[in-house]
Amino acid sequence: MTSVDLRSDTVTRPTEAMRQAMYGADVGDDVFGEDPTVNALERRAAELVGKEAALFVPSGTMGNQIAVAVHTSPGHEVICEEHSHVVLYEMGMLARFSGCLARTVATSNGILDWPAIRSRVRAASNHFRGTGLITLENTHNYAGGRAYPMETLRRIQAESSAAGLPVHMDGARVFHAAAALRVELREIAANADSLTFCISKGLGAPVGSLLTGSRDFIKEARLVRKALGGGMRQAGVLAAAGLVALEQSPANIPAAHADAKFLATSLAGLPGISVNPDDVETNIIFFDISGTGLTNAEFTGALRKAGVLALGLAPGRIRIVTHQDVDRACCERAVEVIAGVCAAPANAS
Ligand SMILES: *Cc1c(COP(=O)(O)O)cnc(C)c1O
Repeated sequence: MTSVDLRSDTVTRPTEAMRQAMYGADVGDDVFGEDPTVNALERRAAELVGKEAALFVPSGTMGNQIAVAVHTSPGHEVICEEHSHVVLYEMGMLARFSGCLARTVATSNGILDWPAIRSRVRAASNHFRGTGLITLENTHNYAGGRAYPMETLRRIQAESSAAGLPVHMDGARVFHAAAALRVELREIAANADSLTFCISKGLGAPVGSLLTGSRDFIKEARLVRKALGGGMRQAGVLAAAGLVALEQSPANIPAAHADAKFLATSLAGLPGISVNPDDVETNIIFFDISGTGLTNAEFTGALRKAGVLALGLAPGRIRIVTHQDVDRACCERAVEVIAGVCAAPANAS
């Protein structure tokens, strides 16, 4: 039996329709702007989020870090939530590539609001370069897939534009935010100057992300992508899968959200596990295993032996993620396996 892989939605494999589209893709040299399939993907992405233009990039990390580089200059402060991907999981590139400082804000749920952001804003002076950019992560990965409430986003947008500060949204899972809030993607995107989203995660494409923004912003971003070695030649074979992902995969997101609720609700009843199902808004679940007396390695090792893959991200803190390659039956199997480990933790160590 194959494993139930709940480590991340990045593990999703291309569907049959994606593979067919990849096989038949019309391609050209994208560094010359001549790959018709990449061009079609970029047009479609821009249209979906309601921006003027888009750029196909190899990863979400590259999309975010290109955005930081285009919005800022060295010495600028970038305001972000303290557990955000741009600061914790992108190899220090804020400092390393753009020469920026992270001005982090602690939150209980990953969601910044304008008063918290305002407390970190600094105008340039004789002593410091000042704020160059605000970044928002939607949904917030480390906070357990939290989506920004629309009124919070609208206030941030209004106040930041009045203050002349650009906003970049790390929307790796922004399709999940839109599904959870039942709003159009473009309503969310309208509150940021630039937005990155991943097609390689919950949308199931094999590779890639889209960076979106104004025509001028994307023109600049294209040069930075080339500088980073992200100019991919006949990338239409990848973009073809992305086009299918954009059309077909969003429809699968509500089921992934329902599966995540099911998992959280089921796990909440198990001995040694602590999780609040109300915290689960989208497809990411964090739960605490301190009560089992097991280390992360012992816990995930025991799960792995029984065919369930989960990720330990901090001591006692386990993450599981639902996606289109696992169904309700897989989730039921995962609950059984986890229940078994919780009932007899001594066997696991
Ligand atoms: C996955 C992810 C990214 C980008 O990751 P890549 O692996 O570089 O594609 C960016 N932000 C968040 C919140 C993510 O979860």
